[in-house]
Amino acid sequence: MSLRFSDPIWQRPRTATAFQSLVPAGQCVDVVIVGGGIMGLSTALHAARLGLAVQVLEAGEIGNGASGLNGGQVIPGLKYDPDWLLEHFGLERGEALVNFAASTADAVFEMIRDERLAVPFVRNGWIQAAHTETALKAAANRDRQWRARGADVRLLSGTEIATMTGAQGYLGGWLDRRAGVIDPLAYTSELARVAAATSVNIAERQNVMQISKNAGNWHVFTESGAELKAKAIVLSTNAYTGGLLPGLAETIIPLHSFQIATAPLSSNLAAAILPEGQAVSDSRRILVYYRKSADGRLVLGGRGRMALPNSPADWAHLERALLRLYPALSDVAIEKRWFGRVAMTPDHLPHIHEPEKGLLAVVGCQGRGVGLMTALGERIASYLSNGDTRQLPFPVSPIRPIPFHAFRQVGVAATIAWYRMLDAFER
Ligand SMILES: Cc1cc2nc3c(=O)[nH]c(=O)nc-3n(C[C@H](O)[C@H](O)[C@H](O)COP(=O)(O)OP(=O)(O)OC[C@H]3O[C@@H](n4cnc5c(N)ncnc54)[C@H](O)[C@@H]3O)c2cc1C
Repeated sequence: MSLRFSDPIWQRPRTATAFQSLVPAGQCVDVVIVGGGIMGLSTALHAARLGLAVQVLEAGEIGNGASGLNGGQVIPGLKYDPDWLLEHFGLERGEALVNFAASTADAVFEMIRDERLAVPFVRNGWIQAAHTETALKAAANRDRQWRARGADVRLLSGTEIATMTGAQGYLGGWLDRRAGVIDPLAYTSELARVAAATSVNIAERQNVMQISKNAGNWHVFTESGAELKAKAIVLSTNAYTGGLLPGLAETIIPLHSFQIATAPLSSNLAAAILPEGQAVSDSRRILVYYRKSADGRLVLGGRGRMALPNSPADWAHLERALLRLYPALSDVAIEKRWFGRVAMTPDHLPHIHEPEKGLLAVVGCQGRGVGLMTALGERIASYLSNGDTRQLPFPVSPIRPIPFHAFRQVGVAATIAWYRMLDAFER
């Protein structure tokens, strides 16, 4: 990753430390977790609480992956609404999935509260902003389904959304009060701190190069020469998945999500733009999402080019989107630009694989993993502890590489360009 052109605003707590804890060679742990993002750390923390001996291995530093780079929007739910989930998964699993999906933002905010995490947050909801009649109808449909389940949600009129966002161009929208915003790097660092305090061994700069099975145990080899023995392995490498497990990387399409942050806003602008601090997603085909940060900047993200960025011009489409929404920001500098990788699956659902007993992989957060991976980690930990598949909200599925995987990425880039053009016509 070109660090020169990736300069996020998020902050680790000042007290954050490095993690260098490796179990002694020859000792067999219950679980080795590969990947120290929200998924790996939530699984590790909950597994340790259930009495398992856990080692987390992270190739870089904790929070180097999507977990420390994301938009920090904590949004419950999946891409699909309750009716679809019931129709698709049947009454029993569908109902369990709806309840799970509804709980994912709670999982984050309860973790922050119960563990006293040093994480800046605002829990004032998420606005899905609609700029066409079609998007308004979709919002009304979503509202009906979640309200019927008692969720704290409501539709917003054009006047209300204009007041709440201060943005131009929306016909109305939907407010989900279960959601909120956090500093994602602080959250990931703090998850690691609490996991380590709960007996989890965490080692940074341990790039896992190989895994194999021998005499009933799993063996894990890292680039720096460490060799570990475990009863089970969890691969929580998501969009940064490499070649550890044949075919796994080909089950996802990794996309780049880019973000920009303005200089801290003046008090006048801060009072006009998102005065209550909600998170917003735009209904356009190529999603842009935005929020204010704890230090008073406006942070906006959206899809970016598939190649690594090599100049600030690679973020120019986001600056245009920002000014379309907020012309008053034309004189405010863009101070930070960064990007990370999001893992998409063809069915837009996270996938849990267990190709061999004791070898689990969880991938495919669809860009909504802050709540999802926090909540899913707890379920994976229960499954590791008692082997009961009913703990898992999503069915365990075989590893099915996407046909013509290499060409799919080219197709995605072309589709994004086409959608950007359609969005431009609908402005
Ligand atoms: C720019 C951006 C904005 C986003 N915005 C939001 C948002 O606002 N709200 C939301 O809910 N979600 C958002 N997401 C998605 C969210 O960040 C992810 O769903 C979530 O962080 C996934 O967590 P994870 O632990 O599964 O993966 P990651 O955090 O990516 O962690 C995977 C880790 O595995 C490590 N790894 C990979 N291979 C190896 C190996 N061989 N050995 C050791 N370690 C390895 C990587 O270094 C990495 O740290 C966004 C993502 C991006 C990139």
